[in-house]
Amino acid sequence: MTPAGRFAPSPSGELHVGNLRTAMLAWLFARSTGRDFLLRVEDLDRARAGAEAEQLRDLAAIGVTWDGAVVHQTDRGEVYNDAIRRLTELGRTYECFCTRREIQEAPSAPHAPQGAYPGTCRNLDPAELEFKRSMRPAALRLRSAVTEYTVNDVLHGEFTGVVDDFVLRRNDGVTAYNLAVVVDDASQGVDQVVRGDDLLPSAPRQAYLGSLLHIPIPEYAHVPLVMNSDGARLAKRDGAVTLGDLARAGESVEDVRDNLLQSLGLPAGTLDRALAAFRPDSLPRDAWVWPGSPSGRSS
Ligand code: GLU
Repeated sequence: MTPAGRFAPSPSGELHVGNLRTAMLAWLFARSTGRDFLLRVEDLDRARAGAEAEQLRDLAAIGVTWDGAVVHQTDRGEVYNDAIRRLTELGRTYECFCTRREIQEAPSAPHAPQGAYPGTCRNLDPAELEFKRSMRPAALRLRSAVTEYTVNDVLHGEFTGVVDDFVLRRNDGVTAYNLAVVVDDASQGVDQVVRGDDLLPSAPRQAYLGSLLHIPIPEYAHVPLVMNSDGARLAKRDGAVTLGDLARAGESVEDVRDNLLQSLGLPAGTLDRALAAFRPDSLPRDAWVWPGSPSGRSS
C-alpha cells in the first residue's frame, strides 16, 4: 500500500474556511512527502443529505485533489466489528450501561483526570450484568491498561494525554469515532494524520488503541485552527464562512484560496505553487483569526 495522508470530514454541512485550510494543509503535508492523499467521509454520525457532494465540490474548487475513490465509514461495519472482536478476545472490552447523566453525576475515581469515565461498569458481577442487560442496551468500552499515553507530533512535539475507558461502540450500535478512525487509517495505509489541533487530546487514545491492535502509529501533525474575532473556534454562525457565502459576498474561490495560503505564510496561487514553498517548520503555530467576509471586513 502506498503511504498516504488524508482528510476525513464529517458530512454535517458545508465546509467553512477553517475546514478548507486544514484540508489544504493535509494535502500539502502529504504531497510534499510523496504520499498519496485520500478522502474519507466520516458519515457514521452527523450526516446531512447533500453535504458530502458540497464538501467534495468545495475541496476540488480550492485545488485539493485526492487519489482513488472516496471511502465511506458506513460501508465499513464489518471491519470495525472485526477490530472489536479482536479487542474482546484480548480481554480489552466491557459492556457499559451508564447514561451520560449517570457518568456526570458519578464520583470520579481517585486520581482520575477530569472527564475520564469513572469505571462504573468495569467490574460488574454476573448478576449485575444480567440485570443491567435486561434494562438497557449496552455500549462497549475499552478496558484500558493505561491512564495516559504519549504521542509525537510534528508541530507540538511530545504530547501526553489521558486514556480512559473510552467508548468503542455506542449503545445504539454505531461504531465510535475513536475506533473507526484508527481502523480506517490503518486499513487505508494512512501513516500521516494532519488535522485540526482540537483533536490533539484524542491522539493518545487513538495511538494506544492502535498499539493494542498492532497498528503502526502514524505521524501526527495537529494544525492550528481558524478562530472568530472572539477567540472561539470558527463556526457557521460566524457569518460568511463557506465558499458559497463568500462568493455571494463578492469573494471568488481564488481569492479565498489565496487568503488562506497567505495566512499560512505561503505564496498565493495554485496549491502546486504553494507546495514548492511549503516547509512544516515555518508554519504559524498559533490560531489564525478569520478577518471576515469582504463586506464585513474593516479596511
Ligand atoms: N471527522 C472528524 C471531523 O470532521 C475528523 C477526524 C480526523 O481527522 O481524525 O472533525
